[in-house]
Amino acid sequence: MNPFVYNAAQGRVVFGHGTIEQTGAEMERLGLNRALVLTTPQQAADGKRLADMLGVKAAGTYATATMHTPLEITEEAMQLAQSLKIDCTIALGGGSTTGLGKAIAYRTDLPQIVIPTTYAGSEMTDILGETKQGLKTTVRDPRILPEVVIYDVDLTLGLPVSLSATSGMNAIAHAVEAVYAKDKNPVISLMSVEGIRALAKALPVIVKSPQDKEARSDALYGAWLCGVALGAISMSLHHKLCHVFGGSFDLPHAETHTVILPHATAFNEGAVPDLLAPVAQALGAKKAGQGLFDLAKSLGAPTRLADIGMKADGLDKAAEIATQAPYWNPRPFTREDIRNVMQSAFDGSRPQ
Ligand code: NAD
Repeated sequence: MNPFVYNAAQGRVVFGHGTIEQTGAEMERLGLNRALVLTTPQQAADGKRLADMLGVKAAGTYATATMHTPLEITEEAMQLAQSLKIDCTIALGGGSTTGLGKAIAYRTDLPQIVIPTTYAGSEMTDILGETKQGLKTTVRDPRILPEVVIYDVDLTLGLPVSLSATSGMNAIAHAVEAVYAKDKNPVISLMSVEGIRALAKALPVIVKSPQDKEARSDALYGAWLCGVALGAISMSLHHKLCHVFGGSFDLPHAETHTVILPHATAFNEGAVPDLLAPVAQALGAKKAGQGLFDLAKSLGAPTRLADIGMKADGLDKAAEIATQAPYWNPRPFTREDIRNVMQSAFDGSRPQ
């Protein structure tokens, strides 16, 4: 066994069907009485239902959570939080809503309960990404990690099929990068491979039968494990490339992860095939990169950058940005290597 460091993150997880009904009891456990329920506009009705269920424990709702956590939205929600004299937030939704709860907690240290409805995994991390005047920055802080996460499988039954597929691939990306991370450890590697296995089994069922409760349960379980990996380990090339395409080219988050992942993985597989062998096995494939490509294709998810808004003439600039600041990756790379990985992702060719 190689030497390692393992930090167990604090935080309580409640997992099951209909668990949203335990929200009030979870507030009582923490001695909390006045929650602000956060959602996106698309999930406003769900937030209102939760607030009605909580009765006097809900001080109000704020339904303007926005992708990439813009500062002006955080400031508006903070003003409401102050005027309502809340003592906690409850984020009901995907990574965008969770991001708003985190942004408020980072500034106020207010306790957070998160009820995730996608597979993004943000709820398990102490990472906050936010945008100020179009510039995205990332910060890590213990105040950002939610105190309680309530996974309610029933809330994911209505997650649209296309978002289920890409959000699931986004979760898998965290786990793939965790198994070869420079700060990898055996506990997180086990969780990562199990997370990939659960998602790879569940997602093909979900695209055919979105209401399949067992598959939805497996997928959310897998997403939790992959989220733990994201929170525990430093990410490498794949996440860096996605950050470039999301931050500088405004490509959609989960779709970008889906398209890049097979190619970044295949590139790293050249250097660390042994570390990626359990990933390939969990996918039922000979090679991890190919297995991820085949999985995305079988889900009907996008496999070409060209199909999610990237222009060919932006690839040189993207490769330039991605190699500006040095960062660790299991396989050292040049600008030309990165440009080649990006070209494969642009074309959507199966990794060799
Ligand atoms: P999202 O939260 O933006 O959700 C996409 C849309 O789907 C929203 O309109 C949302 O309301 C809707 N939606 C969510 N769940 C639904 C459901 N069950 N049924 C119907 N509609 C539903 O998407 P996301 O991919 O979950 O999150 C992306 C954001 O999260 C990005 O900004 C990304 O940077 C961030 N993120 C952060 C971390 C972190 O650790 N900080 C990790 C992963 C993602």
